[in-house]
Amino acid sequence: MTEYDVIVCGGGPAGSTTAFYAAKAGMKVLLLDKSKFPRDKACGGLLTARLFDELPELEKYIKPIIECPSRDVNLYSPSMKYQIDYEFPVGTPWNITRTVFDNAVLEAARDVGAEILTQTRIKDYEFNGGVTVKTSNGDFKGKMVVGATGPADKLASMIREKRNIKPWSDSQMGTALMWEPHVGKEFIDKTYSKNSSLLVHFKPGGIEGYGWVFPKKEILNIGFGGYNRTIKSIKIKEIWTDYINLLKEDGYFPKDQEVPPVKGAPLPLDGPIKATTMDYTLLVGDSAGMVSPLSGEGIYYGMHAGKIAIDTIKKALETNDFSQKNLDQYHRDWNKVFGKELRDLSFFALMALKLPERMVYYGTRDEKLCEIFADLFLGVTPGGLGKRKPITRAVFDAIRYPYFGLG
Ligand SMILES: Cc1cc2nc3c(=O)[nH]c(=O)nc-3n(C[C@H](O)[C@H](O)[C@H](O)COP(=O)(O)OP(=O)(O)OC[C@H]3O[C@@H](n4cnc5c(N)ncnc54)[C@H](O)[C@@H]3O)c2cc1C
Repeated sequence: MTEYDVIVCGGGPAGSTTAFYAAKAGMKVLLLDKSKFPRDKACGGLLTARLFDELPELEKYIKPIIECPSRDVNLYSPSMKYQIDYEFPVGTPWNITRTVFDNAVLEAARDVGAEILTQTRIKDYEFNGGVTVKTSNGDFKGKMVVGATGPADKLASMIREKRNIKPWSDSQMGTALMWEPHVGKEFIDKTYSKNSSLLVHFKPGGIEGYGWVFPKKEILNIGFGGYNRTIKSIKIKEIWTDYINLLKEDGYFPKDQEVPPVKGAPLPLDGPIKATTMDYTLLVGDSAGMVSPLSGEGIYYGMHAGKIAIDTIKKALETNDFSQKNLDQYHRDWNKVFGKELRDLSFFALMALKLPERMVYYGTRDEKLCEIFADLFLGVTPGGLGKRKPITRAVFDAIRYPYFGLG
């Protein structure tokens, strides 16, 4: 049986990026995924600009399939009484559709030499002085393995069990729902302007989260998501219909078009797992919980983690040491780059998602707070802002602009 240097399990953005950089570094790589590509994935399809700063090697594969940049965002308070209109001075976010984007990253990995096997469901792992991945297409042997199959990753469960970490509870998980109705370029250009303006509505239907419209070239990506602790108790269809009707009323969705269907997926919203390694094993992306607890953004973190992992994998192969102790270098490395940022975002999510009426109100008065909002939502500053800046500003605004309402 062929022995691979590394087997990457899951061909989403995090797994494919890991396979890309591993193959580029000369490793013998196998990437496995259960789906037939191109495949869809529930997502808003918004990329932060810093992706290209951190992963320039992927730019030539991704740039051609970008639908459009968005140059501004309109943020609405839950009552719709307050609205922030913010133009991004730098760091314009990019719109993509996941079917095309995920396929492009997977093909990039193939292009630099990774072996790709799709329609192959991973069933189990056996550790035997290396790892055997048991799949619907037979067994594959690797010196080590990378878990990238999403929030229900089996390797992540094994790490939790080994290292005594509890599974995510409902209060740590979120759900996001979306659809991409075709409304045509003419409607989008007329309604969302050449800026492809993003819309964000806080607390739609009272959920602790937000609704969004991210316009692409001819389709609108519409969705809402939030923490399970509030989203589990709602009538999804009702809130979805209300949200589409609100967009229709405001002219953001064609009045004569039917309410589109909706689909969703789970999202870990409590920050990364405390351990992302064990012997022979690393986790990247949603498998490891690398998602912004504020915005639900996970593509950048997952892909960046895939690149960061390569140094540790290379060292493990050179020294033939695949122990957790040796692989823990990866855990320290990604933590250094965006661990603190995700922890800070977790803290700010409490403030922004619990008190959005107040935060948007302050934002209408304070230009600096607008910047902070946009930065936190769209990751304009690498490494994040830290906790102090947003808190100091909000406290400052609370004194300057008294607010007597709720939320
Ligand atoms: C509705 C919604 C909106 C979102 N919007 C955004 C956004 O606008 N911007 C953003 O940055 N993030 C967004 N996210 C988060 C983002 O989608 C994830 O963080 C991202 O997809 C994580 O990538 P990944 O590669 O870790 O996992 P995934 O993209 O989930 O890929 C996992 C892969 O593993 C495969 N797989 C699963 N199980 C198996 C198995 N047993 N065997 C083989 N293969 C398997 C799957 O087929 C899949 O291809 C959103 C999430 C949701 C739910």
